[in-house]
Amino acid sequence: TPLLGLEGVSYRYRGATADALDGVTLTVERGVSLGIVGESGSGKSTALSLLLGLVRPTAGRVVVDGEALNLADRRRRREFRRRVQVVYQDPYSSLDPRQRVDRIVSEPLVSLGLSRGRVALRSAVAKALADVDLDGDAARRYPHEFSGGQRQRIAIARALVTGPSVLLADEPVSALDLSTRLGVIALLERLKQEKGLTVVMVSHDVSAVAALCERIVVLKDGRLVERGATREVLDRP
Ligand code: ADP
Ligand code: ADP
Repeated sequence: TPLLGLEGVSYRYRGATADALDGVTLTVERGVSLGIVGESGSGKSTALSLLLGLVRPTAGRVVVDGEALNLADRRRRREFRRRVQVVYQDPYSSLDPRQRVDRIVSEPLVSLGLSRGRVALRSAVAKALADVDLDGDAARRYPHEFSGGQRQRIAIARALVTGPSVLLADEPVSALDLSTRLGVIALLERLKQEKGLTVVMVSHDVSAVAALCERIVVLKDGRLVERGATREVLDRP
């Protein structure tokens, strides 16, 4: 069974006159990273919000392990939040500048109910920072002390700290300069290999998608217009 998917999902924002997503079906298989591409306004971010369970479909359903996503059940909600994590585009706005890095990275564990003083929490934070090649000293610093690429590593560490199986990434390198982009893409590639992480990446950056995603879907005006192996889709005229 697929890890995660949308089945005939439509979504319309409150007050909007058209669907932001219109009858979209897509699946994310374990170990098969998926790129969601399309022009600005095609519905990519909306699809990601649905996969994250941040908004509920107007029609259709979000499916997790073959079952409809059920965030009303507390135990299932915790399990889902542990397994599906997210990284956003802009590491300047996604990291709270007033919080120390260790506090930022531990936040998903705290929201799952671990208390801050716990040794397990501190070791999970240290491990997540090591996973993204930041040293132990980083934990005691603040986001402004880091470059854009390092900040995105901190955001990735925050996503990794729960030990997720799926990482949703919304334009994770678009806000970075070119040389930094390559480092972050290489990091995500390594995490896929070493941790078996499945990446779902929203991007208009075809080279980033080609490097990371085995499969691709193309959205246009809220509809899914193409899908397939990345190479094939990108080679189509
Ligand atoms: P991107 O293409 O990078 O997703 P957008 O310009 O589409 O950026 O959206 C930026 C933010 O504005 C998002 O949080 C999105 O939800 C919101 N947004 C986009 N379009 C509208 C709209 N028509 N009405 C209200 N909010 C919108
Ligand atoms: P993309 O991520 O591909 O740029 P979005 O999912 O952000 O596309 O947007 C899809 C459509 O939904 C666009 O027409 C956008 O203007 C609209 N939209 C996005 N966010 C909002 C919002 N908060 N309120 C109303 N319309 C929105």
